[in-house]
Amino acid sequence: MFADVLLPLMLPGTFTYSVPQAVAATLRVGSRVLVQFGRKKLYTAIVVLLHDRAPQGYEVKEILGVLDAEPIVRHPQLRLWQWVADYYMCSPGEVYRAALPAGLKVESETSVSGNADFEEDAGHRLTDTERAMLDIVAQRGKVKVDELAAAAGVKDAMHIVNKLLSLDAVHVSERVVDSYRPKTEVCVRLTLPRDDEAALHRLFDELQRARKQELLLLAYLDLSRWTLRSAEPVEVTREALLARAEVGPAILQALVKKGCFETYKRAVNRFADAGRVTQAPAELSDAQLTALNEVHQCFKQHDITLLHGVTGSGKTMVYMHLINEVLARGNQVLYLVPEIALTTQLTRRLRSVFGDRLLVYHSRFGDNERVDIWRRLLSSHEPMVVLGVRSSVFLPFARLGLVIVDEEHDSSYKQQDPAPRYNGRNVAMMLARMHGAKTLLGSATPSIEMYRHALSGNYGLVKLTTRYGDLELPDVVVVDTREARRRKEMTGTFTKQLLVLCRQALAAGEQIILFQNRRGYSPMVRCRDCGWVPHCDNCDVALTYHKYTHSLTCHYCGFTRSVPTVCPACEMPNIDIVGYGTERIEDEVERAFPEGKISRMDLDTTRSKSSYDRIIDEFSSRATNILVGTQMVTKGLDFDGVSVVGILNADMMIHFPDFRASERAFDMLEQVAGRAGRAHHRGKVVIQTSQPDNEVIRQVVAHDYEAFYEHELAEREKFGFPPYCKLINIQLKHRDKSVIDAVSCEYAALLRTVFGSRVYGPEAPAVGRVQNQFIRQVMLKLESGVSMQKVKALMRQLYEQQLAANALTKQVRFNYDVDPV
Ligand code: ADP
Ligand code: ZN
Ligand code: ZN
Repeated sequence: MFADVLLPLMLPGTFTYSVPQAVAATLRVGSRVLVQFGRKKLYTAIVVLLHDRAPQGYEVKEILGVLDAEPIVRHPQLRLWQWVADYYMCSPGEVYRAALPAGLKVESETSVSGNADFEEDAGHRLTDTERAMLDIVAQRGKVKVDELAAAAGVKDAMHIVNKLLSLDAVHVSERVVDSYRPKTEVCVRLTLPRDDEAALHRLFDELQRARKQELLLLAYLDLSRWTLRSAEPVEVTREALLARAEVGPAILQALVKKGCFETYKRAVNRFADAGRVTQAPAELSDAQLTALNEVHQCFKQHDITLLHGVTGSGKTMVYMHLINEVLARGNQVLYLVPEIALTTQLTRRLRSVFGDRLLVYHSRFGDNERVDIWRRLLSSHEPMVVLGVRSSVFLPFARLGLVIVDEEHDSSYKQQDPAPRYNGRNVAMMLARMHGAKTLLGSATPSIEMYRHALSGNYGLVKLTTRYGDLELPDVVVVDTREARRRKEMTGTFTKQLLVLCRQALAAGEQIILFQNRRGYSPMVRCRDCGWVPHCDNCDVALTYHKYTHSLTCHYCGFTRSVPTVCPACEMPNIDIVGYGTERIEDEVERAFPEGKISRMDLDTTRSKSSYDRIIDEFSSRATNILVGTQMVTKGLDFDGVSVVGILNADMMIHFPDFRASERAFDMLEQVAGRAGRAHHRGKVVIQTSQPDNEVIRQVVAHDYEAFYEHELAEREKFGFPPYCKLINIQLKHRDKSVIDAVSCEYAALLRTVFGSRVYGPEAPAVGRVQNQFIRQVMLKLESGVSMQKVKALMRQLYEQQLAANALTKQVRFNYDVDPV
């Protein structure tokens, strides 16, 4: 028997291995197996097909081991992986790598052992280092490469090991470590045979003068129901035992030493303490109830429905009622949000209703927790709701009934790097379709593409036009910064109007959110005299200044250096820090409002899950009253004390050179405005801009999504952008500038022979070199009617036939990005 397996590599297709007799009867599709691929490398592969057709033309290797008694991946998942690989033009192996939590991907560590038959011959005399290494290996038997390096006192041990390998002086083997560890707790048991009452009596006699030990024994007998012969004794944890006996661990230690007790570890269910605190979700308002009924109506005719609800309309509440119904029917729900930041508040809201039927899945959870969630879904068909970010689409659902994609328009749903460069929203829609489940998309500012589908009748459309509690949408004020500057009414980044509103809010005990767009505002360092700006050694970008570490960092590759005290170009000691990063705004706010308590939320302050939670908690509980942040503060967060929202500079958003710039700007402004005035009174939003007459800004002031949509769609049609066409970006990378220039030109010319004027480029992107790799882009713009499957097949064919075999072009990395965002 043979197995076709998927390797977690960039290579296309599957690979065939033979199945050892011993496991032939039990091996199943979806199981993980260990195989050797390449010279000495071991990989965890997934079986995708079992058959009896021996491959021709090469010698088949045998599967080295089977890692699972039961398959770890379900059939529908494998189908979804293949769909993602085809659609987004990557290998199924890359999808596999993205889909499985790291804890299910076995790592291998190389160790070295000696070859007893090896004899040094005259052809090659060993060097001293080589001989020293062989001695160490001979003494210790089996040594890991890094330990060997340490023992021999050399840096590049791998190099020497390779040499010894080529001489056949050593063997290497891979020690496989499964990095998954179940959570355990320590349990205690009595070592006596249970039916030997005499022995128990003797033990009591023995402990007569050790009162505390006796107490412990009594507590154990009680907790374990030792004397209740009708059933197995109950497992007793060390913690529970010590608590019941009210004694310290030393007492138990003494009894273990005497040999009458022993301890052992037991795997625990991480979900046991989540609690089953299920209660009904809050009652819906009339508007929400109408919306819910309309969703049901739409689902009768459409598998996909868009819920367009203004900020604060209570879309979450509608979702919760819908989820409740689906769970009651015994089905599972996937609830997607674009960013981890959103799961914190939602988890709390959902937990109180769904209890331990809620699973939360994202990368800020430990790996073991993610494996546990994976296994739990795999082993049960229970109704459950999974809240997660885009990678949750790859979980092993068994009975999916509903997929909710909240903030559907958000560009964070798209994975940029590495492959698969997929859009979580679109994959979720495909996942739902494969399961025969319904999809509900939700947004206050739907994406142009989805709204068009909804208007054209492809999808259902439901609108929620009023805020919950009949709250008004916030009052948006536009302040002209050019004018303010002319009148000298600006203090740093703040206009007078914004400062006044903030003061009033603080005086009234209300809260403030200040938003600074991430793009283009990273603070950097510049020489006042000659204009010198420090750049990354590996990338074509200026380094960003970080106040807390007083250092300069590259946001593309992590390169870091200290801030020079004198300019390396002109040797003058006048180095300035320029730009408006959130750190700098935090400083300004501190000076302007010494009484304010400030939190900053951006990529730098939220590296860990607990820091997200802390910042959100502090602001929710009003321990802080000013929140300064980037994109992260715009999305779906729900704080009821915020009366003022300040958008410090809207200019960069409007003028980004990208056909989606207006859409992004509208979304972002409307979303961040939506944080204002949610519970008590109408909030105020201040937009600072040098272009108060801009179309997008006027639409935000009027909260007029429809007007924005009409205008934007007309623009897209005029200039031929999605949804009026389909885009594929091809990114080429290579270390050598002349190679990348030659190959990208050759490639574009080649594409033009097939696709003609639909090909644009090659072009260098805004950052033309990253991590010492030069980058060029070629873009393919295709009419909406064209068969994308055919286009992709042609592109693959072109690459295989013309480029893959060529020594030069083969070295260039080709990254495909389908539907770039
Ligand atoms: P959206 O996601 O549409 O912006 P949310 O679902 O966050 O809005 O709701 C906004 C606020 O209104 C939240 O604080 C929520 O608790 C409250 N809310 C919405 N609907 C109800 C309801 N039916 N009963 C009680 N509170 C509600
Ligand atoms: Zn200088
Ligand atoms: Zn860099």
